[in-house]
Amino acid sequence: MIARVEPLTRARALRGPFDYRLGEDLRGVRVGSTLLVPFGRRRVLGVVVELAERSEMAPERLVEPLAAPEAAVPPALVRLGLWVAEEYCSTPARGLALVLPPGTGTGARRPRPREPLRARLTEAGWGALAGRGGERLGPRQRAALGALRRGALPAAELARATGGHATLRRLERRGLLALEPLPESPRRPRTARTLGPGAGAPRPTAAQASALAAIRRRLESRGGRPLLLHGVTGSGKTEVYLRAVAAALERRRSAIVLVPEIALTPQTAGRFVERFGESVAVLHSALSARERYADWKRLRSGEARVCVGPRSAVFAPLDDLGLIVVDEEHDGSYKQDGDPRYDARLVAERRAAAEDAVLLAGSATPRAESFARYERLSLPDRVDGRPLPPVEVVGMVGAGGALHERARDALSEVRRRGEKGIVLLNRRGWSNFLSCGVCGRVWECPRCDVTLVLHRAAAAMACHHCGHREPVPSACPDCGSVSLARHGAGTEQLERELAALLAPLPVFRLDSDSAAAGGVADVLARFDAAPAGVLVGTQMVAKGHDFPEVTLALVLDADATLRFPDFRAEERTFALVAQLAGRSGRGAREGRVIVQALDPEARPLRHAAGHDAEGFLRGELARRKALGYPPFGHLVRVVCASAEPGPELAAVRAVRDALTTAGVPALGPAALFRRQGKSRAQVVVKSRERARAIEQVGAAVERAAAEHGRRGVSFAVDVDPA
Ligand code: ADP
Ligand code: ZN
Ligand code: ZN
Repeated sequence: MIARVEPLTRARALRGPFDYRLGEDLRGVRVGSTLLVPFGRRRVLGVVVELAERSEMAPERLVEPLAAPEAAVPPALVRLGLWVAEEYCSTPARGLALVLPPGTGTGARRPRPREPLRARLTEAGWGALAGRGGERLGPRQRAALGALRRGALPAAELARATGGHATLRRLERRGLLALEPLPESPRRPRTARTLGPGAGAPRPTAAQASALAAIRRRLESRGGRPLLLHGVTGSGKTEVYLRAVAAALERRRSAIVLVPEIALTPQTAGRFVERFGESVAVLHSALSARERYADWKRLRSGEARVCVGPRSAVFAPLDDLGLIVVDEEHDGSYKQDGDPRYDARLVAERRAAAEDAVLLAGSATPRAESFARYERLSLPDRVDGRPLPPVEVVGMVGAGGALHERARDALSEVRRRGEKGIVLLNRRGWSNFLSCGVCGRVWECPRCDVTLVLHRAAAAMACHHCGHREPVPSACPDCGSVSLARHGAGTEQLERELAALLAPLPVFRLDSDSAAAGGVADVLARFDAAPAGVLVGTQMVAKGHDFPEVTLALVLDADATLRFPDFRAEERTFALVAQLAGRSGRGAREGRVIVQALDPEARPLRHAAGHDAEGFLRGELARRKALGYPPFGHLVRVVCASAEPGPELAAVRAVRDALTTAGVPALGPAALFRRQGKSRAQVVVKSRERARAIEQVGAAVERAAAEHGRRGVSFAVDVDPA
């Protein structure tokens, strides 16, 4: 037997697959197995992507793999990983890395310990600590052995504490410590139920029931066009997902539920655990490597049949997949930032189609693409039959981030009645930027062409792109003036203003700064527990929270997002306002919504005020059609970066020229602002023929990289840039 193996190397130029002969002892190897293979003079980890009877290679050149260290990945996932690599102009190794067990990694020369290990002192180790046997120990080695005097420790923790796995491996080789499998840790407690709607599940409304009937039909017919559950906020979409998952399980099929960041909406994941107990694996970023691996194995073995998690959960190793749910499908977190820049929604669509599973995307504010392409199921009303809260849009010409009179009154009303409010301002920090009142100097990041944001509590000026920080100046270094002006308010300043305005009503702040300090869950829990109060923050406050006491939702500078040159700006603005509006009036008391904007007539705001998602989407689709934007056209963006200005532009020009020669029109080059010390430029292809555009861009980049890569230019390809 011949195994075609794709080596997991970082090098872009090395493209497999390469053939290896399988000996008797490797009979069990199949598509999806990982193998340690000789590769030139090295040994590398590779994935079997195909099995064959014979090879084109000369028999004397065929070598045997060294070992098969790992459980196999399902073949369907191998194909999916390779598809992602192509669709997003990445390498097979990087595509495959997405579907491998956590911890496998690209470029690994040897498999890292996959099973959790523990370290224990051997006789020789005790001797070495006591100075016997002539063993010489470095400081790290001594520390590692010393830490084991009182008993065995998990290897991962010991490595973290004493300078890495390499130290432990070296000690193991010298026989001074032993690494052995860790005894199974007791499973995290879960509730017992495994199937069915269970007690306490509400009776579906008529709209929910008809959506569920359509989903069941799809499960029976094994797939088909993706479904879009378009339901207003509070219409009970989660209940539909729960019952859809139950329906898949009843048919002996598994399910994946993709959710935006779990830390922001732990309630949703919690409801799946509550209903399906032991059969759920919840993946989230806070898990340790060992926990992640344990979850992978539970899914792979079929012990867990439902996987709830963020975008990477789309690669969960489940067999007999019946359903993929994409909750809040408009959420930006479904797009991966690093290479491959995959979109989990598109990967979900692909996977569902390949495995005859049903794709069910849901949102109150779906993307124009899904609205146009998917079959719609709608939940037009809130579950309790209450109307959506009235929305008032007020003009703020020249007033910046300050509060409108109506907003002040509404907030005072919240205080007087002991209710809750949520205030959204999509700018963190204290002031947007600082300038000298005399010479006009503006404080900018030394590594990025953006202004520094003042953070008062941290007494620092910070760059929101690279993390650069510097102390707040007391005088202008250019002219010596001490009259420094602060412009534009951020969430930190707003929190202070609101606290003063509304005392003694407590004010809570939720943005990535406060999240870093105390944790998102902590802020949300305190807001939830308080009898009354105001939550202020960035777009994080507009996620799917369900706080019944909230009666006021307030958006400041709502059209700020419209001032970015981006074809998604309108959609984002509409979604942000509509989602925040959905947080108000979910309980017994009626809610209201106030939207402050420079241009109250802006199309997304008008439609958001009327709770008119369909009207907005119809207009949006007409606009996109006229301009050739998705779903009518596809965008592929190439960004080049270099340490010095110049080479990045030359590289982008080379890409554009190659594309022009190939008959693919490209927009650019356009210079981008400098970021993290790198000069950047981009070229964008807008095309109706997606596959062709992707292929041509890939070829053009490969050609340009061969020449310009040597000059230190890096290339990033982004298909469907967010
Ligand atoms: P959405 O996700 O559409 O915003 P949720 O799924 O959060 O809405 O539902 C809002 C609330 O309504 C939740 O508290 C949920 O338990 C409840 N709910 C859902 N379906 C029903 C139903 N059929 N009958 C009564 N309450 C329901
Ligand atoms: Zn000055
Ligand atoms: Zn910076």
